[in-house]
Order: sequence, then structure tokens, then C-alpha cells
Amino acid sequence: MKTRIALIAHDKKKDDMIAVAGEYAAFLKTCDLVATGTTGGRLIDELGLTVTRKHSGPFGGDLQIGALLVEGQIDCVIFLRDPMTPQPHEPDINALVRACDVHNIPCATNVTSAHLVLSQLRLRAAQA
Ligand code: PGA
Repeated sequence: MKTRIALIAHDKKKDDMIAVAGEYAAFLKTCDLVATGTTGGRLIDELGLTVTRKHSGPFGGDLQIGALLVEGQIDCVIFLRDPMTPQPHEPDINALVRACDVHNIPCATNVTSAHLVLSQLRLRAAQA
């Protein structure tokens, strides 16, 4: 089965997301990807990835991804959060991260943890 990965980046972290995803593009092309609206648009336009786009984060995209996760449809979340900027949808962000913890789904919230999670998932997929 394909690895199912959710990708979300706050505005000031979107360039970082493109850089990280670009490094793993070959692996990500073998995965089922879902993303919030703007993040997904950039992944499609700039990296040529196939991504199911949900609403933008402030309009409920994090909640949509959270719902998929609760239903067992997400294996991993890469969520590059901006810790320096207040977000209007902070409750939604907390709900998604909480859902990851409730369901024991890895959630990488910065570039270094994203590298660790993606490299491990890529290794596992290669060994499967
Ligand atoms: P976006 O949503 O990808 O649509 O910008 C992310 C967020 O702000 O939570």
C-alpha cells in the first residue's frame, strides 16, 4: 500500500516545505499526498507532485486533514508550523496535532524532524 502523507506549511514556512519536499520528490511521487490548499498548490506547481488539495488552513483544511487522520487514512503528517506568527486558526492547528497524538501518527513540525521522518519512511518503502 502507498504511504499516505499529509503536508501543511504556514506561509513563512512554505519555502522550507518546497525545499524539503523537493529533496524527497522521487519518494513522494510514490506516495498518496494530501495538503492544505495553498501548500498543495505550490507542491503541484513547483515540484510536479500529484496532491489532493483540501481547503486552505484558515478555512478548515487542517480540520479536513484531521478528519482523514482520525479515519485511519493518514500515515504521517509533515506540518511546518510558524511558531513566531499568531495564526487565526490556532484551535484547528492544535486539534490536528492532538489528533496525531491520540492516534499515534508521526507529526514532523520542523525541517529537521521532517527530514528524519521522510528519510525513514523512504527507507521502509524501499525495504517493503
Ligand atoms: P495553506 O494552509 O496551505 O492553505 O496556506 C496552511 C495553514 O495555514 O494552516
